[in-house]
Amino acid sequence: MIIPTCYKDKKVAVIGLGRSGQSVAQALMKGGSHVLAWDDQESARKSAQNLNIPLLNPSSIEWSEVDKLILSPGVPHHYPAPHPLVAQAQLEGLRPLGDMEILCESQKEARYIGITGTNGKSTTTSLIGHILKGMGAQVEVGGNLGIPVLELNPLNKDGIYVLEVSSYQLETAPSLHFDVSLLLNITPDHLDRHGGMDGYIAAKKLIYRNSTSKDKLVISVDDPHCLTIYEALKASSKVGLLPISVCKPLNEGISVKEGVLYENKTPVLDLKVLERLKGQHNWQNIAAAFGALRTLGFETDPIVKGIASFPGLVHRQQVVAQYKNVTFVNDSKATNAEAVAKALICYQGSPIYWLVGGRAKEGGITNLKPFFKMIEHAYLYGEAASSFALTLKGNVPYTQCETLNEALEKATEKALRDEKKDAVVLLSPSCASWDQFRDFAARGDAFCQKVREIINSKSGS
Ligand code: ADP
Repeated sequence: MIIPTCYKDKKVAVIGLGRSGQSVAQALMKGGSHVLAWDDQESARKSAQNLNIPLLNPSSIEWSEVDKLILSPGVPHHYPAPHPLVAQAQLEGLRPLGDMEILCESQKEARYIGITGTNGKSTTTSLIGHILKGMGAQVEVGGNLGIPVLELNPLNKDGIYVLEVSSYQLETAPSLHFDVSLLLNITPDHLDRHGGMDGYIAAKKLIYRNSTSKDKLVISVDDPHCLTIYEALKASSKVGLLPISVCKPLNEGISVKEGVLYENKTPVLDLKVLERLKGQHNWQNIAAAFGALRTLGFETDPIVKGIASFPGLVHRQQVVAQYKNVTFVNDSKATNAEAVAKALICYQGSPIYWLVGGRAKEGGITNLKPFFKMIEHAYLYGEAASSFALTLKGNVPYTQCETLNEALEKATEKALRDEKKDAVVLLSPSCASWDQFRDFAARGDAFCQKVREIINSKSGS
């Protein structure tokens, strides 16, 4: 654990007491800060009290006496509307900060790699961490992925923090300086929290806000938003640039052509044989990870070795089981249309029985229309079921269900009954999970468990 002393003797309000909020509050207390914490949920407040974290009184807090304001990523400070306590604090001139700000203020010697983008952050972050660990480097991996940053170990100048950074975390870490930053892609997501696409793009651009020409931004040039950023930066020379592409060969940069990874014009690795990093989207993640590590001066061979031995991540196109003609795939982390598109492309040519639903994002599944012809049958569940039915009507046969379990049962029955070769029952929900599950991982776990139950009952019968 990191014990930050940067706010020693300061009065610090911590709003949001999920896992990262609790870890910040505890770390700051150990570092000598006077912490006052809050969460709207009583259960979170109780659990904080059990950890001896003092609570603030929302009706009597004097914000003029508070020195720092720390927010969890889930607490809005801007759009759709600031949390009421945050609005009061902002009136007193307090700026919302997150745990990554505290990390970089207290661990100044280490090097930092930061990964952002709409999709692929966790995969790329884990991949870079895996490769570095395989080389025996001193590395700590966390952030938006898994471990809250103040629960990581302290590092000196020989160490590297590999951080997955969401747009919310970028907004609350003004001092964060990455030696290498990665911008994988930008497509619409979380628009409610950023007041629209412009706000979302502006948040993503913060990844390189403190970069200089000595630092490097590894950036995709495949989507129009990233390409615009790349072109503008090329003209300004604010930061060193390493373009990556999976759509076109690059004479200077990292690219993928016909499934082969290239560094400038030199072929490096055939990606088509990698079972755990299938699909063009994963090739983008590999290209970015490879580029980032080459930028830091690592040799090609150990990087390639690390890519080849990467075990993959659960909940991202995870093949859960195979039964008769059917493969069950858990892609619970596909919470937006772009991620779903990648999964549908990966299973192109197979009859896809698609489980989709939950709490819809802005735009729903309308952008997936070009892919509808790949779907054998859709099973809609959760809050979004009725609105998705309207989008699918006349285009894709569908069945409306209440729950994910019901959708899975019905999809399995039909896929087995149809007896089509290489059928795929694919959970790729294009939605947040919060209407029926704690998070995407709980949704994916529930799917995997139900798949096992169904197969066991069928094998036993
Ligand atoms: P994030 O952390 O950004 O949500 P993940 O690596 O967890 O990204 O993957 C989330 C979803 O996006 C998964 O369904 C995965 O298959 C898909 N995905 C992964 N990498 C990419 C990419 N580069 N472009 C588009 N979709 C991707």
